[in-house]
Amino acid sequence: IVQWTPFFQTYSKNKQKYPWVQLAGHQGNFKAGLDAGTVLKKLTPKEEICFKELMKDVLRPYVPEFRGVCNVEGSDDNESQYLQLQDLLSDFNKPFCVMDIKIGVRTYLEEELFKAKEKQKLRKDMYEKMIQVDPNAPSAEEHEAKGVTKPRYMVWRETISSTANLGFRIEGIKKDDFKTKDFKTIKSREDITEMFKEFFKGYPLALRKYIQRLKAIRATLEHSDFFKSHEIIGSSLLFVHDRNNASCWLIDFAKTGVVPENIKITHKDQWEVGNHEDGYLIGLNNIIEMFDDIARQ
Ligand code: ATP
Ligand code: MG
Ligand code: MG
Repeated sequence: IVQWTPFFQTYSKNKQKYPWVQLAGHQGNFKAGLDAGTVLKKLTPKEEICFKELMKDVLRPYVPEFRGVCNVEGSDDNESQYLQLQDLLSDFNKPFCVMDIKIGVRTYLEEELFKAKEKQKLRKDMYEKMIQVDPNAPSAEEHEAKGVTKPRYMVWRETISSTANLGFRIEGIKKDDFKTKDFKTIKSREDITEMFKEFFKGYPLALRKYIQRLKAIRATLEHSDFFKSHEIIGSSLLFVHDRNNASCWLIDFAKTGVVPENIKITHKDQWEVGNHEDGYLIGLNNIIEMFDDIARQ
């Protein structure tokens, strides 16, 4: 598991520095913002459109504030465009803990699956990756051929974590005393519950605040025009807590887009190729249920 501190940020309240934490994505995608409390994420047009809409939606309090676009000169002299986003870490005191949970029953777009299906070439590299995780995953024919097709691999890959079953998976956790593990193959409810407990340990106020916040998010999603009209793929909930505070936000809309006009999605029906269901509420409901269970213990 990768844990990056790509740069240091400055608290606006006391000008102290803190190491920024990035739990997913490519290192070069993020930079310190021009102002304290702002972080820059490399712009993709799809995500920019989403943030603009979200600033007008009831979900606004639950996503990082979008503060416009800026150009930044790179090392190669080329200018790149970045989204200026509220740095969700900037209101937390050291030490703080961060967890990224990717929501949904799949993390690729249907069009990516269609594209993969066009070429039914057998991939040896994907077969190798498959047997590294589970030697029994390939069928007899696939073993024989020592290859699997890309769409087959894409669908299978969502079953090695909890994504396909529970509608979410842990992407990363940053906590001082936390021993990192390979999150990609953590799948069972029990194992994930243990991870959650480890994340909350030593911060007795966090869990209750998270549960409140998640329930507020769920209630707000029901009234959100954005949620009604968008397929949310590869998006995360980012959890942050310190000794006194805890909160979470919806982040990462790089693969979020409007569902085709003739299609309505529920966000909780089973996904079948063509129905565009993302399983967002399946994941959110499971997280809330698991947090509630921990709180009752
Ligand atoms: P991927 O698609 O691989 O998930 P990405 O390049 O789309 O990555 P994000 O998922 O948006 O990037 O963010 C990656 C990480 O950066 C998050 O896991 C989180 O740790 C951090 N991060 C992103 N946005 C913010 C923010 N507004 N405030 C604080 N941290 C953030
Ligand atoms: Mg992400
Ligand atoms: Mg992304």
